[in-house]
Amino acid sequence: MYLSQPSQKKSKRSALVKRILEFGYHSGLVQLGRPLWANSLTVLNYHRIDNLSPETFQPNVSALPAEFARQMEYLARWYKVVSLQTLHEWLNGGRKLPPHAALITFDDGYLDNYTNAYPILRKHGFSAVIFLTAGHIGTDTAFYWDLTAYCFAHTRLDRIPFPDGTQRCWHNEAEMQQVSYGWIESLKKLPEDEKKKWVARLPELLGVAIPDGYFKRLMMNWDQVREMSANGIEFGGHTIQHPILTRIPPERARSEISGSVARVSEELGKPVTSFAYPNGMPDDFNAATARFVQEAGCQTAFTLLNGPASLDEVRKSPYTVRRSFISHKHSMPEFSTLINPLNRLRH
Ligand SMILES: [Zn+2]
Repeated sequence: MYLSQPSQKKSKRSALVKRILEFGYHSGLVQLGRPLWANSLTVLNYHRIDNLSPETFQPNVSALPAEFARQMEYLARWYKVVSLQTLHEWLNGGRKLPPHAALITFDDGYLDNYTNAYPILRKHGFSAVIFLTAGHIGTDTAFYWDLTAYCFAHTRLDRIPFPDGTQRCWHNEAEMQQVSYGWIESLKKLPEDEKKKWVARLPELLGVAIPDGYFKRLMMNWDQVREMSANGIEFGGHTIQHPILTRIPPERARSEISGSVARVSEELGKPVTSFAYPNGMPDDFNAATARFVQEAGCQTAFTLLNGPASLDEVRKSPYTVRRSFISHKHSMPEFSTLINPLNRLRH
């Protein structure tokens, strides 16, 4: 999962860029320079493919199912979807990548990847990689952002203490949502053990009781993972408990990485050779974590640095591959530009 708060200055620039993009998309101009960026790798990053509900942590909804279907049609038209195996074979020098290569990835392992995305992927014959938070698969343990969304959606209170000693309150739903996002961001800054304590206190702080087994249908189970694995979907590691790897002692980061890779491999009965860093921003991985990933037997690791990447970049830095973060807030014109190598000019 990943959550960022855009600055106001950035928002103004984004509004202008958005208008230009809409024009480029509708006029077809966005595809005019295609031959210039044939040697690139677009890696799409999805989390959840689901409809929105008040109890859902909405920044993690990458696309509604109908939007996802449209996006896959767009990929089928303009890109060549490749598998992780093909990408690795190219890295090993064994084969060429097609022009306009695209790799579809999902982080965390939500059940909706199986129920909503998988049928659409199958329809197109697309492969995809799902990076699993191994300790959550087949359990009813919610991620803290999902727990936060549930508790805020059900509270009757109008304030909450923050870990920094302040107290924040809200007067309407929009303000409440902002406070809930602020709460999640403040948790991310804490050492892992302290974070866990605050997460455990959250239902009590907001006066909410969570029904037993409520989160049972949030994540996939291992049978679903195996079924997809037998039908062209590939899997990678994404830690056991989803800590931000640079906020825990190196030895723990190493075991979170190798443990998730080993668990997924054991459940599937095949080697696992790729990894995605939780949160994926520049502060969330470093040379040590990249080394741990390599030592765990992985050939590639994926970040949330803004993509797409040139093939030269991927070959040079296979442990920090860029991805295009997709959000349900993106229109089709925005989607088409985000996954286009021209997108790198925006930042
Ligand atoms: Zn994640």
